[in-house]
Amino acid sequence: MDPYFYTEKPKYQLQDIEDASEFYDIIERSSLTHQLSSSRPYIYWTMEIYDKANGIKGGGGLGVLAADTRRVAEKLDVPFVVVTPFYRSESHQKITNLEQEEFSETVSPKDYGFEYIDEVSISSRGFPDASLSIFKKVLGSTQFITISEPNFGKLYEGEGSGDHRLYQEVALGFGGYKALKLLGIKPAVIQLNETATIFAALARLDELCANGMNLYEAIVYVRKHTLYTNHTLLQAAEPEFHRSQFEKLVLPNLKSNAVRCWLMEQFRNDRLRPNLLAIELTEAKNGVSKLHARVANFRDRNNDKVKFHAITNGIDLETWTLPETLQTYHNNNIIDKFGLPTDDFSRQLNLIHSADIRYLKKLGRKELNRVLLKRQDQYNKSIQVPENAILFDFKRRFANYKRPYMPFENPNALRQILINHNAHYILTGKVHQGDVTMYQKLLEVLKLIDQDPVLRERVHYIQDYDEELGRALAIGSDIAINIPIVGLEACGTSWEKDIANLKILISTNDGGVADIQPIACLEVSGKNYEAEVLSLYVNMHKAAAIVKNDQLLEKHIRHQLNNYLPIISGARMMKDYLKFIFPKTQTQPKKEPSVKRIVIQ
Ligand SMILES: *Cc1c(COP(=O)(O)O)cnc(C)c1O
Repeated sequence: MDPYFYTEKPKYQLQDIEDASEFYDIIERSSLTHQLSSSRPYIYWTMEIYDKANGIKGGGGLGVLAADTRRVAEKLDVPFVVVTPFYRSESHQKITNLEQEEFSETVSPKDYGFEYIDEVSISSRGFPDASLSIFKKVLGSTQFITISEPNFGKLYEGEGSGDHRLYQEVALGFGGYKALKLLGIKPAVIQLNETATIFAALARLDELCANGMNLYEAIVYVRKHTLYTNHTLLQAAEPEFHRSQFEKLVLPNLKSNAVRCWLMEQFRNDRLRPNLLAIELTEAKNGVSKLHARVANFRDRNNDKVKFHAITNGIDLETWTLPETLQTYHNNNIIDKFGLPTDDFSRQLNLIHSADIRYLKKLGRKELNRVLLKRQDQYNKSIQVPENAILFDFKRRFANYKRPYMPFENPNALRQILINHNAHYILTGKVHQGDVTMYQKLLEVLKLIDQDPVLRERVHYIQDYDEELGRALAIGSDIAINIPIVGLEACGTSWEKDIANLKILISTNDGGVADIQPIACLEVSGKNYEAEVLSLYVNMHKAAAIVKNDQLLEKHIRHQLNNYLPIISGARMMKDYLKFIFPKTQTQPKKEPSVKRIVIQ
């Protein structure tokens, strides 16, 4: 047996950046050495973060993005604070008789090296104040500031428009803001990772006004120093709250009468979507891929279309790439010490040969099998993927728009592909709690596999999809399948992990993949669903043929990396955010903030 199978190898890391000024210089923002500091950091507010190593398990891509953004900031020595809940209950999936069941595990910040700071309180009408415990954890230039209390509940607990969800959002915004004050931290800038964090901006507005600033000036100030990152495509899909819910849960936390009046004037027919507040209280707004920024159709309260800048999500390459692969990028001068593609990375990619790819994929397969030993398939057994088999994978939340069932539309075609190419197929992903349609779909897929001897042998549903499994599949599988309905994936990052790890990607023309036109991978397309299904099978055949052929493999892998490496790089994402938030002409704002768009009646 290869010893690597059993022993933890030291993780390969890019050289440490000791001082962020070097990074600021190369991104032409030298002034950031004065604008950002540990007492005046970049603040990232998020309802979800997916960072199990630090005790917090998220639900999907939004949380993975948050965790990656922090890791990249730490790596680059950027002063960065994440304000987020510490959920004391985390959700897991298990399969019994081919049906999904959920169970919870209890977690405590103390078990993950968090330090208790103090309590802050949140008020609601008709209830005693809630006391939130503040815990923090410092990691290099970054830190987590978390709020938690025994009744806070789980991530995305209850209905989107329910009182409990509003309470969670209010607690995160107002409670998190109080925590910052307690710790003597003043935000240089606040990034709102999705609308659920809007109460952070409201807390700031309230504090400015309570301290005597005029409402209009305070709004302009908050707008200038807050960034709204949107991940939703449809404004109407976002939750809407009733006036009475705000009266009960939000108003008791406001000190300023002016802010209270302004807030209640934002309601239409006693209803309000908090994204309207996010639109009004931020000047800089971004979507998370080019396509998303273009098609997100959001209207402000005057019904004018909202402009979103595009900053495509990236990933932390150190977290998601096989260490030996990252080392290969670095040694061949493809990725620099910051994690950015070098100026001539395109040319340098020619140094990656099929033998390197095969060697690295072989190491990756071992790592995948090591992780699979701890995991269970739909029959509660652990599986191993043969070293010489080609492996396809579909690893993402079992959401309808991602179409996890599509490869099973024609079982005969799938069977042929798996037999002809000696291939296996791993499917993993949890159905969102309460999604009745998708529970049923998952059951149907698992039954179909169960009734077919070939599929039963070669298709494996691995339970309880999480970061560890996501990483292992990125590293150890050969061909990734990413087939969201075109127009519905804001960005997606799973495909980025796949490309970084030298896999062949099969994808629809959507999300961040569509940043490059035509997309630089095998494209699933068709004028209707049947045509798309056909196109998927054709591309699965093609992908398997590519994996078997040295020249084709080399060519495709280089082509994918040549196009997508700059997008995938998390350092590139950090560079884009810093450049967007801190424009070069700090002293001369491009244009006056449009106060007149804030209608006061
Ligand atoms: C990367 C990752 C995601 C993001 O996946 P997309 O479907 O591409 O958005 C979600 N969950 C886990 C566990 C991941 O590792």
